[in-house]
Amino acid sequence: MKKDFFSNKDVVSLKNYYLNNKVLINNFKEFLLNSNDALIKLVNGVYIYINIEKAFVMLYGDNKNIINSNEELCILTFDEFKKLFYNDDFEKLIDALSNASINLEVKIRNYKSKDLWIKIKGENIKDEKGQIVGFIGCLNDITREKKLEVELERLVSYDELTGLNNKKNFKRIINEEIRNHIRLKKRGAFIMINLDNFKFINDSCGHEAGDLYLIEFSNKLKKLVRDEKYACRFSVDEFIVFLPYINSIEEINDFTRKIMSLFENSYIISDKNIYTTTSIGVSLFPDDGQSFESLLKSADSALYKAKTNGKNQKQMFNDKISEEINRIYLIHKGLRNALEKNEMYVVFQPKIKLHNNEVDGFEALLRWNSREIGFISPGEFIPISESTRLIIPIGKFVLREVFSKIRYLLDEGYDNFKIAVNLSEIQLRDGGLVSYFNSLVKEYNVPPKYIELEITESMLMKSVDNNIECLMELKRLGASIALDDFGTGYSSLNHLTKLPIDVLKIDRSFLIDMKKNNKSKYIIENIIELSHKLNITVVAEGVEEEEQVEYLKSINCDKVQGYYYSKPQEFDNIINMLSKKGI
Ligand code: C2E
Ligand code: CA
Ligand code: CA
Repeated sequence: MKKDFFSNKDVVSLKNYYLNNKVLINNFKEFLLNSNDALIKLVNGVYIYINIEKAFVMLYGDNKNIINSNEELCILTFDEFKKLFYNDDFEKLIDALSNASINLEVKIRNYKSKDLWIKIKGENIKDEKGQIVGFIGCLNDITREKKLEVELERLVSYDELTGLNNKKNFKRIINEEIRNHIRLKKRGAFIMINLDNFKFINDSCGHEAGDLYLIEFSNKLKKLVRDEKYACRFSVDEFIVFLPYINSIEEINDFTRKIMSLFENSYIISDKNIYTTTSIGVSLFPDDGQSFESLLKSADSALYKAKTNGKNQKQMFNDKISEEINRIYLIHKGLRNALEKNEMYVVFQPKIKLHNNEVDGFEALLRWNSREIGFISPGEFIPISESTRLIIPIGKFVLREVFSKIRYLLDEGYDNFKIAVNLSEIQLRDGGLVSYFNSLVKEYNVPPKYIELEITESMLMKSVDNNIECLMELKRLGASIALDDFGTGYSSLNHLTKLPIDVLKIDRSFLIDMKKNNKSKYIIENIIELSHKLNITVVAEGVEEEEQVEYLKSINCDKVQGYYYSKPQEFDNIINMLSKKGI
């Protein structure tokens, strides 16, 4: 273990003391000379000693270069020394002292505000107890080596003519981007740009003019991209741009329009007007390819299509996918203010008791008629509203509608019904559901027993405990719980015993399957039997034919819901489906 040569000195005034103490300086030199040879290999640099306890740094050697001082020996307080470093590099250095030996490369700025790269190399110093008290080593100026390194990096990574990424470097960058996009579940666009008739420019105006043309185009391209790292010169007259994190096809259209517009006017190269056009092929990550090679292949075949269609145009690899994405984008945009624009409303589908054909409740189903897009089914917009969390305000709207309609029915003298509301997992997990529910109970003075909440199994599979706790709370308040779409997901009978369920809704697909498949029949019959033993009411969904009704009756299914009886209807049309008590 190295002993600290300063350790027994009592420092009064740090700088003056050390600077006037020649013995000390000699001690320092001697200490250095006795140190590990490798440690004190000094190139354009200084020796460094750091004393943590007293918070100072001693530099000895050619201080001119490093800190622009003519003194051979400089003593700096930590604050003075810190000013040399960028960001928190100084703190990083101090943290690194916990390692026995240190070998760091950092960029610093000397007191003339000149940037230089230094290598800090050395060993920590410990006291008798093994505590780290300092550091001894050297600072070497490695700016020249770094510059060479950068230059070398430029040579192997960038295209010499245009300064854009070369193929190899671009591939590395995009592979990294692909990983980020997978992690964040995002889309990216791979855009291949090929100049039309570039050979003609070379042939008619000479290679030099061709080069100048490429340089000029590249400079314009650099200004269009979000970051130059996303652009590449792929071959002589072919360029690739990656558009990261795109949400809509419009972003791609916007970008490719800008690219095309770079060719609207001729370029003036060595006093000559040179005019050309460009063809563009676009592929999408992850839809058209999940690796650099497959994206390239897809973009290349889109480009081929653009060329054979007459050049000077853009082609998507897969038009169908881009239409889909566009629609998702439109729906997402429309959903943001659909409620404000009163485009959403709720319809009601009756549930009928099989033993007496009476309606004893309804399911509330959301509808959206967008002024811009037209009518959109909930099967399409609910998942999008979930992924954007817009389901929270939308779900609140549905609940409020239902409470207000129940209030109306109660005021009209009906009280033998329930209205079911579909809940989304996002609402259940949000945390605000129970309190919102309670506030509606108070506002409308509606007892929760008139409300049924429909949930699906998959909702309970996600963060199960929290969701079940929330459901339990709603059930304690008096609402009943229905398990929706049974037969489409896990269909775990286990759930029936473990969850707080009052109603089981057998999915329409089960009924359809039953016709062809005897197994489905047995399963339904057994599920009904089991449910009854567990005191669970069974509802069959999507009943369309009389035959189904008769069969369901024969196996003791409690209720049905489906087009056979009624499609979902506007509220005014369903009121008279209910009978008043005692009438
Ligand atoms: P769901 O909860 O399974 O609702 C039943 C769906 O089946 C409804 O479709 C209904 O119109 C349809 N249906 C009813 N009877 C028949 C029939 O006899 N034959 C056929 N072919 N279909 C029938 P809808 O209204 O398009 O809703 C689709 C899904 O959207 C719902 O499935 C539900 O998961 C979701 N949804 C609807 N409204 C809401 C809501 O307010 N909140 C939430 N979170 N989801 C909702
Ligand atoms: Ca439902
Ligand atoms: Ca259902």
